[in-house]
Amino acid sequence: MTPTMAASCPGNPHALGTSRTMTVEPSAFPRIGLMQYRNSLPLKDHEVVLTFDDGPLPPYTNRILDTLASECVKVTYFLVGRMASAYPDLVRRIYNSGHVIGTHSQNHPLTFDQMALPRIEREVGAGIASVQAAAGDPRAVAPFFRIPGLMRSKQVENYLASQSLAVWSADEVADDWYRGVTAQQIVRKAISRIEAKGHRGMLLLHDIHPATAMALPTLLRELKARGYKIVQAVPAGYRPNSVPERASPAVADAGGWPRVVKTSASSTDPAIRTAHQRKRLARNDRDGDITASISRKKSKTKTAETGFGWNWFRR
Ligand SMILES: [Zn+2]
Repeated sequence: MTPTMAASCPGNPHALGTSRTMTVEPSAFPRIGLMQYRNSLPLKDHEVVLTFDDGPLPPYTNRILDTLASECVKVTYFLVGRMASAYPDLVRRIYNSGHVIGTHSQNHPLTFDQMALPRIEREVGAGIASVQAAAGDPRAVAPFFRIPGLMRSKQVENYLASQSLAVWSADEVADDWYRGVTAQQIVRKAISRIEAKGHRGMLLLHDIHPATAMALPTLLRELKARGYKIVQAVPAGYRPNSVPERASPAVADAGGWPRVVKTSASSTDPAIRTAHQRKRLARNDRDGDITASISRKKSKTKTAETGFGWNWFRR
């Protein structure tokens, strides 16, 4: 892969860009992310790797892809199998936009640390199979896995190692799955935590939340203003340049995942208004949005990503 330099970003001479790619072999980096492990990606001063979990989910995934494209920023996605099956066109768009696709289980259970091995095998294996099928080429899926909710256990880690899958935790999170979080809070937390962890790091975000989609343009601008560079971590070995586009529309999965965190913030940009805001504007119907319909089923869940209340998530 050729590094995309900011100077070569079409139509945006001031783009943040992607300064370099870093090849990641699972055998050399079996478990990474300073929130849970001793090691992480060997980033230099002011280098940041961006990762997006839990998608794909329109319209937020689309909007985030638009933002990344406008800045020529390449990232790593951790897709949920059932979401990939519901939105295969988006999976292919992610890949064909130059991003790396890892996996994040089939159904995103937040119980990986308590599961018996057969269920771990099913969740991991089905998740990979679903994403591979959605991508249309199994070679498009990297051997990178993020455990839902970061609910690690020795058993999970040993199983993933036996499958030559690298476990990606994170160096920093921005709490973008918190109910009521605003775009401004996401930007502030992301920047302050990157600065606190030695001015570098692998940041975990979610491309299914409206607040994250709203925050991303500002976050990228802020990173550039502070002299940060984006690094993309890619798997070793052959990767196809692209996968075939699909034309057929997919039917959305009506299951309980994901619970999309709504934001009370509104945007002046009509394109980035949440589904809720758009519908409310259109019909003044406060319960008619897709976000609410998805979230209603899980409304009693504390948080989607971390129902376990780690104190260090609440810095
Ligand atoms: Zn997740």
